[in-house]
Amino acid sequence: MTPIDLRSDTVTRPTPAMLQAMMQAKVGDDVFEEDPSVNQLEGMAARLFGMEAALYCPSGTMSNQIAIKCHTQPGDEVVCEKNAHVYIYEGGGIAFNAGAQVRALDGDRGRITAEQVSAAINPDDVHKARTSLVCLENTSNRGGGSCYDLEEIKKVRQVCQDNHLKLHLDGARLFNALVAGKQEATVYGRLFDSISVCLNKGLGCPIGSILIGPAAFIRQARRVRKVFGGGMRQAGFMAAAGVYALEHHVKRLAQDHAHADAIRRALEKKGFVKGILPVETNIIIFEVEESYCARTIATQLKDAGILAIAISADQLRFVTHLDISPEMTDRVIKVIESL
Ligand SMILES: *Cc1c(COP(=O)(O)O)cnc(C)c1O
Repeated sequence: MTPIDLRSDTVTRPTPAMLQAMMQAKVGDDVFEEDPSVNQLEGMAARLFGMEAALYCPSGTMSNQIAIKCHTQPGDEVVCEKNAHVYIYEGGGIAFNAGAQVRALDGDRGRITAEQVSAAINPDDVHKARTSLVCLENTSNRGGGSCYDLEEIKKVRQVCQDNHLKLHLDGARLFNALVAGKQEATVYGRLFDSISVCLNKGLGCPIGSILIGPAAFIRQARRVRKVFGGGMRQAGFMAAAGVYALEHHVKRLAQDHAHADAIRRALEKKGFVKGILPVETNIIIFEVEESYCARTIATQLKDAGILAIAISADQLRFVTHLDISPEMTDRVIKVIESL
């Protein structure tokens, strides 16, 4: 029996309809900006967020790193949460690519407040790095798919505006937040200087992310993408999957959230579970009691045909996604009940 893979929402395979759209894609050389499918995807994403332009990138890591490179100068300081993907999961890219350093803040499930941001801004003093960029993550991966309160983002925006800081959103799973909070993408477009959205997570594309922002910023980002080796040629076959996903795979994220909540309810009844982070979207992070080891539980789950990740010695993570059906969710719940 093929295992039920809850390790990440990146494991999805294209659906037959998505593959069909990919195979029928019109393509051209995207470095010449002549790939109609890439241009269609970029136009669609820009319109969706009410921003001027967008840039198709091979990965979310690259689109975040391009944004950080464009918004900073070497020696600058980037403010983000201590478990932010841009900081802990991008191979030291902020230092490597942008030559900038990080001021990591201790947030609440991956989220930082305007007050914290304000307190972290360095004064104009030659001893200090120049604070130039704030990065938020919504939903927060290590925060267990937690969502920002829109009012707090507005306050962060104000702090950035008052202090001439740029504000970037790592919106790898922004559509999960939009669906869960019944929010409009254009609201985010007005609040951020740039937004990166992953197409390869819950939206179900094989690869790709999209970076969205003002036209001048995207022009610079296109140059940096080339420098990073991310200028692709007939990328339209992949971009067509992105167009398909934006049209067909956004609303259904609610189903992933319902599956995650059902799994949470099953976990809550189990003695080996010490605590579960609030489940707001498609990620479930739970802690095991002292007498248990997260890796051992992951192995037991694997033996029962369910793949999860032990993200630390005492924490496990499940992520629901496009390839997890209601039947599979029921099976996961039965296995949890049997542990
Ligand atoms: C997955 C992810 C990214 C980018 O990941 P890639 O695998 O490089 O596409 C960025 N930020 C967050 C929060 C993520 O979860």
